[in-house]
Amino acid sequence: MLSWQVVEHGRPLQKALTETPKPQGTEVLMRITRSGVCHSDLHIWDGYFDLGGGKRFYVKERGCVPPFTLGHEPFGVVEALGPRARGVRVGQKRLIYPWIGCGKCAVCKAGQDNYCVSGSRFLGVNRPGAYATHVIVPDAKYLIDTGGIDDSFAATLACSAVTAYSATAKLPAMNPADSVAVLGCGGLGLIGVSILKAQGVKKIVACDIDEGKLAAAKKQGATKTVNSRADDALPQMQGVAAAIDFVGSPATAALGIAALRKGGRYIICGLFGGELVHPLPPIAQRAIGIVGSYVGSLQELKEVVALAKKGKLRPAPVETRPADEANAALEDLKAGRVVGRVVLDFESVAA
Ligand SMILES: [Zn+2]
Ligand SMILES: [Zn+2]
Repeated sequence: MLSWQVVEHGRPLQKALTETPKPQGTEVLMRITRSGVCHSDLHIWDGYFDLGGGKRFYVKERGCVPPFTLGHEPFGVVEALGPRARGVRVGQKRLIYPWIGCGKCAVCKAGQDNYCVSGSRFLGVNRPGAYATHVIVPDAKYLIDTGGIDDSFAATLACSAVTAYSATAKLPAMNPADSVAVLGCGGLGLIGVSILKAQGVKKIVACDIDEGKLAAAKKQGATKTVNSRADDALPQMQGVAAAIDFVGSPATAALGIAALRKGGRYIICGLFGGELVHPLPPIAQRAIGIVGSYVGSLQELKEVVALAKKGKLRPAPVETRPADEANAALEDLKAGRVVGRVVLDFESVAA
């Protein structure tokens, strides 16, 4: 198999030829055909998350030690089954749920693999990911039939769409006149706008610093756009019932929290980095909620796929590029040159 590996943090990925693993037990060997490029890949590539105040969280503490293969938006074809694998056949196309837990703890048993407390096996985070021609999946239950949806778009459901979907599941009780702000209109934010619309939210305020991304948000169904660099950005947004922060920077957090109406909720799933410094009394006086959301559960991904199959999700612009352009794709994402999502094509790669 071929994989595009981080051999040194922050340096270009290198193509490596290694032996293709054989599936054991309930494992399934998938031949990867598509793999989405996500913003959090940039952090893992760099080797750390910025915690603000000069502090960092190093990904090596979670098992991301080079050589390491990125990629947590995997889509492929079943290539081989372990002796105890059930539920799929060789040749079937499947989306792979990447947020795999230990499978044994109470949290995993309750279907919340993404919040596993005793040993996550997240593909492309704790385990080799899908910037590769092959990936081992521990059990066929993590494979989802996306028949009828474009393969590249299907790949992006595994992280960007399910993350946005799980964040919208944390909205507060709302009345019909309420509006929801979407902070950051990259790949996640754009699909977030589309999900909010599918859920019947009538007023969606899209915020970004990039006019091109705001125009894309409008196409997705945003009813109002705000350039968050504008002097009057806050008054333009004031009174939202919820602000979903797909960036997660000190600036977006300050704007999102300040814009909430009483009883509103700030939901953060972006991992840009930094720290939150906020006066405590107003959190109580305004009865606001500050909630984190991290990727999504297997059930939530199935619900996202069902929405997409019904045509209720408008794909954010998806650009499919050959696998050999992995480094250029990461550089473009880092430089803010990507509107929507880049998906790498591993189909034509000879393994
Ligand atoms: Zn991601
Ligand atoms: Zn677990």
